[in-house]
Amino acid sequence: MVQPQKVKTYKNLIGGRWVESSSGKTFASVNPADTSEVLGHFQQATLEETQQAIETARVSQPAWAEATPAKRAEVLYRAAHLIEEKTSELAETLTREEGKTLAESTGEVKRAAANFRFYAGQAYLVSGETLPSDELSTFVYTLRQPLGVVSVITPWNFPLTIPVRKIAPALAAGNSIVYKPASLTPLMGLRLGEILLEAGLPEGVINVVTGPASIVGDEMVTNPSISAITFTGSYQVGDLLQHKALTTCRTQLEMGGKNPIIVLEDANLDLAVSCTVQGAFGLSGQACTGTSRAIVIKKVLDQFTDKLIEATRQISIGNGLTKGIKMGPVADTQQEKTILDYIEIGKEEGAELLYGGRKLKGNSYDRGFFVEPAIFTHVRPNMRIAQEEIFGPVLAIIEAADFDEAITVANDVEYGLSASICTRDLGRAERFARLIEAGMVKVNQPTTGVALNAPFGGTKKSSTETYREQGRIAMEFFTRLKTVSLRYES
Ligand code: NAP
Repeated sequence: MVQPQKVKTYKNLIGGRWVESSSGKTFASVNPADTSEVLGHFQQATLEETQQAIETARVSQPAWAEATPAKRAEVLYRAAHLIEEKTSELAETLTREEGKTLAESTGEVKRAAANFRFYAGQAYLVSGETLPSDELSTFVYTLRQPLGVVSVITPWNFPLTIPVRKIAPALAAGNSIVYKPASLTPLMGLRLGEILLEAGLPEGVINVVTGPASIVGDEMVTNPSISAITFTGSYQVGDLLQHKALTTCRTQLEMGGKNPIIVLEDANLDLAVSCTVQGAFGLSGQACTGTSRAIVIKKVLDQFTDKLIEATRQISIGNGLTKGIKMGPVADTQQEKTILDYIEIGKEEGAELLYGGRKLKGNSYDRGFFVEPAIFTHVRPNMRIAQEEIFGPVLAIIEAADFDEAITVANDVEYGLSASICTRDLGRAERFARLIEAGMVKVNQPTTGVALNAPFGGTKKSSTETYREQGRIAMEFFTRLKTVSLRYES
């Protein structure tokens, strides 16, 4: 007889110790490809425990800020090394917890290690400037200093790289962290805390607290000891946090997208199709920069659509751990429902569902949340499927008469995260880069993916117009300027 697998109960990381919640309550993390697999049980932290985590971060921060850049860099380099050593195990856990394919998870794990390495170097580069002074014997300069305690709140779709690209620069600058992973992917969040402890981060500088957003998340936003909140998630939650945060608390919100790819009549259509398929259906369409609209010039619409359907047909859907699978499940039953609901909405609005869009059933599909990629044509720009973020493998093809109309349609949404154009005309590509309302602009590339040393963020409802993530510029969010005027003759 097969023995039922013993499921581990994980604890929260507070002040360098692994602690059980006094609530006595836990919640489960389940494999979206096979809901019979429970990855673990996780603490439902209380308000008091969240406050404890914030207080321990506050008390631990000054010593970390005083640590030399060499010491801070050493911890981050070690974290990179540990992640690399554990790549295959972490990637497998990531696939089991979030659902993306093993190849996608492996890419995410490698990216997390590379981010730690990048920000280890940045610990040495936190710098101000010197300024000429009108007063004799006076030296004026600026200092960049850490903010204090940073709240890190992240979504489930990149449960390793998104927290790492926030936590690594925050630590490099000398801040301490209270981190709440998404409740769908708590295991990856706790593994990250464990790795940072193992890398030698002093106790209390990283605290990982799982539990209800309404208790843990709310306290991480409103507690007066929090100096900054770096959040990635939906616009709806981001907007709420922005209004709740104290005036003295700095915020950085990375939110949703409704990203277009424009296909001009001179595009290499095979390239345009492969960019669209990767952007729309990679990661099961669950990427903030995922392609949800293909705006195609009439002249090449039919040819593009035929090629797109042919390429989409080749996507094998299943458990991301299985070799050859190109698209895993969607995250959970709620995600699945939202996606299927939008497919119905598209049909009711009069768009034509040309391909896919069904819930997959039978055999192992019945144990998970599997949805076929969906391609709609005859989509009008004002339809809900062309306006609202679906966050799933659903693509709306919209016809445009010419370049100018394509730009107007592309900009006619509330979001502005990523946008791509496929063309051989560099002049129009350059004009697109200037006119498009998006923070991330791609030419002959998918809307997803960007170099790790490049600034990341959007405009409109996709991001707060404050600070960019990623790259060197990320250090600005995690540091504040101080101006010093020093008279050296007294
Ligand atoms: P979400 O529902 O907004 O949740 C994001 C995080 O906020 C989770 O940790 C969630 O905790 C927490 N949260 C929810 N309500 C809160 C509250 N009242 N106070 C404090 N924290 C709260 O988003 P999601 O469903 O996880 O992720 C999908 C969204 O993220 C999409 O809109 C996608 O576009 C966006 N995203 C954006 C980027 C980007 O860089 N722009 C990248 C990836 C994803 P619980 O999990 O416990 O509810």
